Amino acid sequence: MEFVTFALTYEFTGFGSEVNMFIEPGLRSTAKGWIEVICGSMFSGKTEELIRRLKRAQYANQSVEIFKPMLDTRYHDTQIVSHDANAIHSTPVEHARNILLLASEVEVVGIDEAQFFDSSLLEVCEQLAAKGVRVIVAGLDMDYLGKPFGPMPQLLAVAEYVTKVHAICMVCGNLASHSYRKVQDQQLLLLGEKDSYEPRCRRCFEQGLKQNTPKT
Ligand code: ZN
Repeated sequence: MEFVTFALTYEFTGFGSEVNMFIEPGLRSTAKGWIEVICGSMFSGKTEELIRRLKRAQYANQSVEIFKPMLDTRYHDTQIVSHDANAIHSTPVEHARNILLLASEVEVVGIDEAQFFDSSLLEVCEQLAAKGVRVIVAGLDMDYLGKPFGPMPQLLAVAEYVTKVHAICMVCGNLASHSYRKVQDQQLLLLGEKDSYEPRCRRCFEQGLKQNTPKT
């Protein structure tokens, strides 16, 4: 009886999410090579969505390589680890250009934490796509001040497919697009994010920034 109830509930909620789910365009068509960007604030499920797409590509017997910037060593050196611990093997690289060398003969390239890469990531992704590679990039679109983050705005401009995912505002419960830094620190890279940040909507994010601006 419990199972039946679950199945019915799943069908109802599943329908709504199915409508918005990203479906791979022409996986087996002759037109190959494009760029997908998954962006959003912290805790918005970017890495989970990246892993979902990469696993589906693996199920389709496609060769997959995943890269992330060397500095992101919070959890594990060679794994993409999302917050729900749904992990997938990845290679840390120091510079975006290294991806070109390491991704030869690969059909799908995933890049996580793309905001931390240098500006050459744009050219790297475009070169891969031109060679026929499906490139899936996940990253923070904004930093803790609400400004466009690293190479993300350029990647968003050239991508064929853009998915913006949202978290829930920790103050008011609306959809959150911003990453609010709870500790006072001017450093752009502040790891150990779980403790230092919370997702907020635009209004609550700006209220927080105002409260923290020292009055001189
Ligand atoms: Zn809010």
